Amino acid sequence: MNAPLPIEVTQAAPGKVYDAVAQASNEVAGRLAQRLAAETKGEVLFSPADRGRYATDASIYQVLPVGVFVPRDAGDVKLALDICRDVKVPIVPRGGGTSQCGQTVGAGLVIDHSKYVRKIVTFDAKARTAVVEPGMVLDHLNAALKRLGLWFPVDVSTAAQATLGGMAGNNSCGSRSIAYGNMVHNVIGVQAWTADGQLHDFANYNDSTGKTRELARRAKDIASLVAADIEKRWPKVLRRVGGYNLDIFDNQNERPYTRDGSVNLAHLLVGSEGTLALTKSLTLQLAELPRAKVLGVVNFPAFYKAMDTAQHIVKLGDGTLTAVELVDRTMIDLSLKNPAFAPVIRTAVIGRPDAVLLVEFSGPDKSVLLRKLTDLVNLMGDLGLPDSVVCMTEEAQQKALWDVRKAGLNIMMSLKGDGKPVSFIEDCAVPLESLAEYTDALTQVFRRHGTRGTWYAHASVGTLHVRPILDMRTDGALKMRTIAEEASELVRQYKGAYSGEHGDGICRGEWVAWQFGPKIGEAFGAIKDLFDPANLLCPQRIVNPPRMDDTALMRFPPSYKVIPLHPVLDWSAWDVQNDPATEEITPPSTGGDPAQGFAKAVEMCNNNGHCRKFDAGTMCPSYRVTRDEKHSTRGRANTLRLALSGQLGSSESGLGEGALEAVKDAMDLCVSCKGCKRDCPTGVDMAKMKVEFLHHYKARHGYTALDRLVARLPDYARRASPFAALLNLRNHVPMLAKIAQRLLGISARRSLPAWREHHFFNRPPVTATRDETLSASRPVVLFVDTFNGYFESPNALAALKVLQAAGYTVHVVDKLLPDGKHLCCGRTYLATGQVEEARAKASEVVSSLLPFVERGIDIVGLEPSCLLTMRDEMLAMGLGTSAQMLARHAFLLEEFLAKEAKDGRLEALKAKLRPLDKRVMVHGHCHQKAFAAVNPIVEVLKLIPGVQPEVIESSCCGMAGSFGYEAGHYDVSMQMAELSLLPAIRKFPGAIVVADGTSCRHQIQDGARREAVHAAVLLAAQL
Ligand SMILES: Cc1cc2nc3c(=O)[nH]c(=O)nc-3n(C[C@H](O)[C@H](O)[C@H](O)COP(=O)(O)OP(=O)(O)OC[C@H]3O[C@@H](n4cnc5c(N)ncnc54)[C@H](O)[C@@H]3O)c2cc1C
Ligand code: SF4
Ligand code: SF4
Repeated sequence: MNAPLPIEVTQAAPGKVYDAVAQASNEVAGRLAQRLAAETKGEVLFSPADRGRYATDASIYQVLPVGVFVPRDAGDVKLALDICRDVKVPIVPRGGGTSQCGQTVGAGLVIDHSKYVRKIVTFDAKARTAVVEPGMVLDHLNAALKRLGLWFPVDVSTAAQATLGGMAGNNSCGSRSIAYGNMVHNVIGVQAWTADGQLHDFANYNDSTGKTRELARRAKDIASLVAADIEKRWPKVLRRVGGYNLDIFDNQNERPYTRDGSVNLAHLLVGSEGTLALTKSLTLQLAELPRAKVLGVVNFPAFYKAMDTAQHIVKLGDGTLTAVELVDRTMIDLSLKNPAFAPVIRTAVIGRPDAVLLVEFSGPDKSVLLRKLTDLVNLMGDLGLPDSVVCMTEEAQQKALWDVRKAGLNIMMSLKGDGKPVSFIEDCAVPLESLAEYTDALTQVFRRHGTRGTWYAHASVGTLHVRPILDMRTDGALKMRTIAEEASELVRQYKGAYSGEHGDGICRGEWVAWQFGPKIGEAFGAIKDLFDPANLLCPQRIVNPPRMDDTALMRFPPSYKVIPLHPVLDWSAWDVQNDPATEEITPPSTGGDPAQGFAKAVEMCNNNGHCRKFDAGTMCPSYRVTRDEKHSTRGRANTLRLALSGQLGSSESGLGEGALEAVKDAMDLCVSCKGCKRDCPTGVDMAKMKVEFLHHYKARHGYTALDRLVARLPDYARRASPFAALLNLRNHVPMLAKIAQRLLGISARRSLPAWREHHFFNRPPVTATRDETLSASRPVVLFVDTFNGYFESPNALAALKVLQAAGYTVHVVDKLLPDGKHLCCGRTYLATGQVEEARAKASEVVSSLLPFVERGIDIVGLEPSCLLTMRDEMLAMGLGTSAQMLARHAFLLEEFLAKEAKDGRLEALKAKLRPLDKRVMVHGHCHQKAFAAVNPIVEVLKLIPGVQPEVIESSCCGMAGSFGYEAGHYDVSMQMAELSLLPAIRKFPGAIVVADGTSCRHQIQDGARREAVHAAVLLAAQL
């Protein structure tokens, strides 16, 4: 058996091994870190916060690693392996860390391949193969292959963040596995180092030579010793990913691993979860991108019937059937409740189905696929369900429905309270003919344990995703074990695979021996010994695993405690509990959170890693630039969670100094774009959390001069503007800019917004009075913010002109008790954590606007970050129902106009708008994106005859209020802009660029030397 490392990696006390490694390694951690820093080019992360951030993945587990290493290239990985062998510290290789079973948490050195080790090494068009490094993300590979009409078809749901190395580690499976198989069917070569440092080319057995041949021969001997057991006990389903693929020598899978029946040694490594070798590169078999797709949505009156029908549908196949996916009633209902998804889901359902199956056919010839759809319709008629199929032949319609399916699952995950849908039996696979009975029996199991599950399934391959709701802080571990035991009995009864998609990790490791029996279990041990005799790679995974319910390994063990804290914002909506059987939520403030809901809001992050994606959407600009875990939303949420639970140190007054500094460090590059509020499946709102955190941090550490200068801008703008010429010298005299950088930290490389002596507030246009507006037939209130009022008053004047041209009686709101200052939303104070001051401002806004909104009069604003404060942060400041009423009536100019246009009230304006024959590009401010307020800009600009606005697919512009002006953030700010915004603008030099955000316009001016305009200005210019 495995020779133990001097750090006690023994079999005696499996559950304690992680502690043993972590503690013992403290003595060598320093040496390890020192050697990594001296001998490699990689990043060496050994701080408590770094280790904490890598102590979790998308599972329920948490194990502190000794340290983290981010190699810059493959050479660094090899050096790290050698150093770890020398100092006897185990290695946990990692990709995106999206594993659900705890594969990437473990004591030892975590090696994160995702930041740098992610190249396409070679590509062979003729053979349709690509060799990639393990840190490459699937979507990034497929984006590169798209123009060649190729793709790598193992389309996991986490494609935007899962790495090929991690996918190979887990033998991942996509929702189209019925057509393409799992990773094991699509990886044709693995180059990897075994623990002794030897690099092997694992590929065709017959071609292997030297030490690789020797390993292969011995592996074959081990397999042949248990050949009879393999034949007898191996689950005969496509979706079996547990244990090692010892059946490569005598295939047991529904789909042979190789097309010609040969033995490929790479397949032994696929699914080995980092326990046998460290992958250097993977050779992938690519597939042709399907040229056409059609979708049949089959509506079922009963869930059981849907499950029972899958077995008949798959027979329609002939290679064209690419997916049969289940969506159950709960998910349909959740989607129908969401205004964005409801219209899409309505196109798919007939009446009120209990479940639907999404049946996809794809291939080169659409006419063939259309015939397949007809076959499906006929089949359902034969099965007693005529008129149950909605046929979707247009790709856009199909894509919209697939997106809803994915999002529906995300909504399910956003359940508030300590009970969470827990993934541990979530991918058992059973033969199709038993699917209906199995789901029925499992439902009974849940019922017996006072919980229930929401089902979604890869019905085509018998893999069912279901997560019962459990509270891991109370009796969750106990229930988890009992449910797992009962579920495993069912899997045995139906001759299925216990681990059918997500791997073994910690939560399924102990079921490996159960599934395969003692002899194969021993053979797995012998394979581990053969490849890794020193037990250096992911000890205690697959072989000799800890107990799945060992609470010492859990992120939320019963001993989990939160430091009492008085938040300054209202988080009470998160301070709730839920009923696992009904999912009903208790009233706000009843959840027992010592941090009054703040901790529970942070704990909503379930580590699924969606914030590491790079495709459309906003989340998360800082991660996109740095690719550091610390700068992802997940990294920030984890840092906050560790801090709030005292795992980064505490003090008598609450958070410890180390914890505060660690969170500050993680928050530093958060641009408060609210991308996560919209894009994170569980709605983690880091921008709001940053405000809360800054409040506590600054309360202890005080505010910087720059904080004060930025926050108080609305207050001193009136007194400063007469000195505009003098103040603007800073933009023209480099020495002054340098002095400002030294004294205040404002980057000398930036221009600052230009002051105006004459502005909107000291040259106010004539508008309706309060009383006139309150009694007008078409009233509207214009809220002019600091930026558009003092610095860019033409925007405010343009908005006024547009509204008046549209026939509204417009009132420009000011304070009830005039003190010479304008009304301000408080945004600049929020940005620096000065919540009390922001609340005072917000309170003035609410009381000034209340008389209007009480009469149903809308408030219109121009600057997204200011106006949308009324719909967001002002609701968390304890301002009561008045603030809620205001939120319902606060609109950005285009939102208001689009709404009015829909109601047919903009005919006068439309008649006045002159045509424009120019390309118009729109950059949405992040907060507009977060509040779905970009479309209205497009709709309103389309009112100008001839204009077809194009929305620039961009994340945050990088300016983000004062962020981009700060010397320390200038480079990151420009990198954010260069990700997509500036290149898109440069592509069309003659286009008009519309950007409603003050700082967005400034960034576009600084970075692309182009003047962007507020939509109001473009509209007014056409009048
Ligand atoms: C919401 C959600 C949906 C999911 N959907 C699917 C799905 O549809 N299908 C599916 O199969 N899975 C799914 N998963 C699980 C997970 O996303 C996949 O298994 C994914 O492929 C893991 O990729 P990763 O880069 O995050 O790997 P990681 O989690 O980082 O690592 C996975 C394994 O690979 C090993 N590994 C990583 N790099 C190396 C290396 N260089 N050398 C050796 N070993 C290495 C790790 O040690 C670990 O054992 C889902 C997870 C979540 C949270
Ligand atoms: S922040 Fe949101 S998207 Fe990121 S890991 Fe957490 S839950 Fe997932
Ligand atoms: S607010 Fe923006 S920058 Fe901050 S964590 Fe969320 S997505 Fe990332």
